[in-house]
Amino acid sequence: MKIQNYMEEVVQDELELLLAEREDICKCQKCKFDMMVWTLNRLPPKYVITDRGRLYTKLKEQEVQFKADVVKELTKAIDFVSGNPKH
Ligand SMILES: [Zn+2]
Repeated sequence: MKIQNYMEEVVQDELELLLAEREDICKCQKCKFDMMVWTLNRLPPKYVITDRGRLYTKLKEQEVQFKADVVKELTKAIDFVSGNPKH
C-alpha cells in the first residue's frame, strides 16, 4: 500500500478530456505538465491509500463533488499556459 494524491489522477484525466476538444493550442508534454502543475497548486490535495495501484472504490462516489472545481481550474490553466507557452 502507498499514499497517493488522488487529485493528480483526476486532473490528468480531466485535462485529456478538455484538450481533446481544443485544436487551437499546443498539447506537448511540457504544456500539459504546466497545466497540471498550475491546477494542482490551486486545488487542495486529496490523499488516499492505494492498494496495489488501485484506488478504493469509495472514491468514485466523492468524485462528482469536486470534479466541477477541477474543470473550472483546468480551464483557467489551459487559457493561461496556452497564452504564455514556455517554449
Ligand atoms: Zn507546448
